[in-house]
Amino acid sequence: MEARIKNQKPASELLRLALPLMMQNGVAPTPRNYSVWYEYVSGNNEALVKAVDALIQEQGLFSDELNAELYDTYIASDQEREIEHLRAELQKMIHESEEHISGATDEASRYQSRLENHAAHLNRGLNSEKLLKVIDALSSETREMVENNSNLQAKLNNMTLELANLRLQLEMVQSELMIDGLTGLINRKSFDRMLLEAARECQKSRANLCLMMIDVDHFKRINDNYGHVVGDEVLRFIALKMREIIKGRDIVSRYGGEEFAIILPDTPFTGALHLAEELRKTIAASKLKRKSSQQTLDSITISIGVAWYRAGEPLEELVHRADRALYHAKHSGRNKVIDGEKL
Ligand code: GH3
Ligand code: MG
Ligand code: MG
Repeated sequence: MEARIKNQKPASELLRLALPLMMQNGVAPTPRNYSVWYEYVSGNNEALVKAVDALIQEQGLFSDELNAELYDTYIASDQEREIEHLRAELQKMIHESEEHISGATDEASRYQSRLENHAAHLNRGLNSEKLLKVIDALSSETREMVENNSNLQAKLNNMTLELANLRLQLEMVQSELMIDGLTGLINRKSFDRMLLEAARECQKSRANLCLMMIDVDHFKRINDNYGHVVGDEVLRFIALKMREIIKGRDIVSRYGGEEFAIILPDTPFTGALHLAEELRKTIAASKLKRKSSQQTLDSITISIGVAWYRAGEPLEELVHRADRALYHAKHSGRNKVIDGEKL
């Protein structure tokens, strides 16, 4: 199976290439549009390159709708296609193995029927998690077969290796689906899932669970004053600082745009408030300079709302309390931490 080779040009260079093109074609500089044009100049996505080249030739207008369509067709579904490809590979592998082992022993027959069972579950449109589960089940059953059945060893060893390879590729696709490309933090989709997991864990163990919602203050001004490239750098810087301060099992995510959310499992509420304050102070005290001119940027501040999970409550309520606290932080002057349990 071919490894996916990615263009290794540094992100800053790709941006330098993408931005003028976006301007030339009247493309609004939104994160989604960035990722389309980023991917285009990287040259890694052949289908996207073809489609955009054709549109440029036609001198079409790159409206928001058209960009959204390009994103959905060539970027979002690129990963889905990869998963589909891995699923088909797995199905093929199962069928090949079945031919090798057919009828050898009773045990082999049982193993074979389990393979058939797995193959039957490999439907189109399977998500990456379910696919991973099938791979893991197959791996452990195959290992067992290899241990107990020396005459099938050689045939099945190959299968074990192939399964490990598939697993690795799937993990790569999964991590791309989970990670925000700009900051390297987990994205909103994984945040939702991880918050759910943390809440389940909290209900089982009766430990504390807290949530911070964070929004960069007057971020629009940063973009307006220094441009989007600097704006992006600022987001990356904030993400880095958060990761430095927030350690252990805590999960830092990019909730969207210039908003972040931090899940704090096993953290008492006073501890969460304390951490939020440390984060706020650190960002406010940071002095950022433009790389090109060494000019110091205006200070950057964040507002934070903190809430504590009441075991069993719907998660929307927890998010709502943290959000409401964030809203209060904004409306009482920004650069503040507000306790969502006191409102
Ligand atoms: P407030 O203090 O009330 O939060 O003000 P604000 O300016 O931060 O809020 P507003 O919602 O008006 O603007 C947020 C801006 O963040 C608008 C949007 O263009 C920008 N933004 C969102 N995502 C990105 C990104 O990935 N990169 C850059 N450079 N800007 C982004
Ligand atoms: Mg915002
Ligand atoms: Mg903001």
